Amino acid sequence: MLRNKPQPKRRWLDLAPGDPVIVTAGKDKGKQGEVLRTIPDQHKIVVKGVNLLKRHTKAGQRRGGVQVAQGGIVDFEAALDYSNVMLVCPHCGRPTRTKHTVLESGARVLVCRHCDEPYERVRKTEAQ
Ligand SMILES: [Zn+2]
Repeated sequence: MLRNKPQPKRRWLDLAPGDPVIVTAGKDKGKQGEVLRTIPDQHKIVVKGVNLLKRHTKAGQRRGGVQVAQGGIVDFEAALDYSNVMLVCPHCGRPTRTKHTVLESGARVLVCRHCDEPYERVRKTEAQ
């Protein structure tokens, strides 16, 4: 059994910032939120209002890319594993797995497994 076998780096995840998702596992199971960030090479995702941890900081420190103006205890969203969230389909409102389809226009989209509607994303950046 090979341990610590190097995993191929993923360059993207199916979800992107702005997508509505539901958490399917862990302490925040059942919570819904919006994707804030994706971390493809760690296979992780940050969801708004989910997996909140408290960070004890001193004033003026830089933590997680945010300049902390005031010391104290700060809530922040920690990354959770990508496999613990599911996309919520805006058409049927249900958490869904997705499949990939190529439209006649040549665009590649995600498709809801329940209602077969393509999931249209308001993409902020193509790279994500
Ligand atoms: Zn659907």
